Amino acid sequence: MATTSVVPANRGRTVISNEDMDFETTEGVKAIATFEGMGIKEDLLRGIYAYGFEKPSAIQQRAVAPIIQGRDVIAQAQSGTGKTSMIALTVCQVVDTSVREVQALIVSPTRELATQTEKVILAIGDHINIQAHACIGGKSVGEDIRKLEHGVHVVSGTPGRVCDMIKRRTLRTRAIKLLVLDESDEMLSRGFKDQIYDVYRYLPPDLQVCLISRTLPHEILEMTNKFMTDPVRILVKRDELTLEGIKQFFVAVEKEDWKFDTLCVIFMILSPSLKLLYSVNTKRKVDWLTEKMRNNNFTVSSMHGDMPQKERDAIMGEFRAGTTRVLITTDVWARGLDVQQVSLVINYDLPNNRELYIHRIGRSGRFGRKGVAINFVKSDDIKILRDIEQYYSTQIDEMPMNIGDLI
Ligand code: ADP
Ligand code: MG
Repeated sequence: MATTSVVPANRGRTVISNEDMDFETTEGVKAIATFEGMGIKEDLLRGIYAYGFEKPSAIQQRAVAPIIQGRDVIAQAQSGTGKTSMIALTVCQVVDTSVREVQALIVSPTRELATQTEKVILAIGDHINIQAHACIGGKSVGEDIRKLEHGVHVVSGTPGRVCDMIKRRTLRTRAIKLLVLDESDEMLSRGFKDQIYDVYRYLPPDLQVCLISRTLPHEILEMTNKFMTDPVRILVKRDELTLEGIKQFFVAVEKEDWKFDTLCVIFMILSPSLKLLYSVNTKRKVDWLTEKMRNNNFTVSSMHGDMPQKERDAIMGEFRAGTTRVLITTDVWARGLDVQQVSLVINYDLPNNRELYIHRIGRSGRFGRKGVAINFVKSDDIKILRDIEQYYSTQIDEMPMNIGDLI
């Protein structure tokens, strides 16, 4: 309701800007340093610890309590700060598992993210017998219908499929008390606005809404005005971001043609136990680089949005399990994914904007895990690199010869 006045700095910009940072945490929001201190139920605590979380992250320390208390919450923090995990655990806390109806609905921009969220819920909520289902495009509608009819507590889905299921009345909305929009900015930038508004219209009036985002462009603020009541705002500022602990280097390649040989050299220096992620800027280039690497006898996986869902699932599975240790991808399909233990990201192409940079690199340094990022920089990219460096007040040095020792 009163959100426009509390976010005066956003003037219709759709990119992250310094002005976004004027969005401030609501007064009185406290950081609670332990999960016990948040009043989380015993069986769920066991699940959280068993999942390997010892201590809540900065955003979790601030946002879990208000969400559990039933407040509308806008949480803004960068990639890798524990937002999606926070949704998973709060959803587990708020649903009543003795009632077999959908009580929480999580909407995410990509199938991978929606599935991943479902998995985290099932893992963390193992001891409370939570039933969750991922409602995503590209999978059989029949399966959705069966699952939903059987009765689940939580649905994690993509906007199109969720909307569809609601309209078919397969996904019953009457018991839904919590709507979470994860990666809201990404959803809007993918043109899901209408579907989100549609979904919202079908939900009960006394709904609790949580909006998770990395940035707060104008359209999001509009959404918060329409959907939310006196929201608690929580911002975790950029200085808590995850470039910390990540060593960043560049290699001057001068021309595009030099990149591939450089990549082969790096690939050979580095230890075979590493996980690597190469980011390029287009789908076509994913295919091109994959083929070229394979022709040179390197084992690599690749992924982009034109691939069928099954194939994408399989590739992610292999990469997570370590069967393949090199993944070539574009930003979009790597986004929001939690690729554990990626120790090295190579920006084969420098990302097109500053925000994507931290998104690609951020994944390698989550929660103190160290990471290394190597940027291939053509002569005309140097300006962009310097800009990134300045923007994040970080240092990107020329890659040393002993790079193998640093990872
Ligand atoms: P975001 O949604 O902000 O990008 P995620 O929730 O996906 O962040 O979390 C990023 C990574 O950090 C995941 O590997 C997740 O398992 C891990 N993680 C999240 N919260 C914690 C925590 N409290 N303690 C340890 N690891 C955590
Ligand atoms: Mg997330």
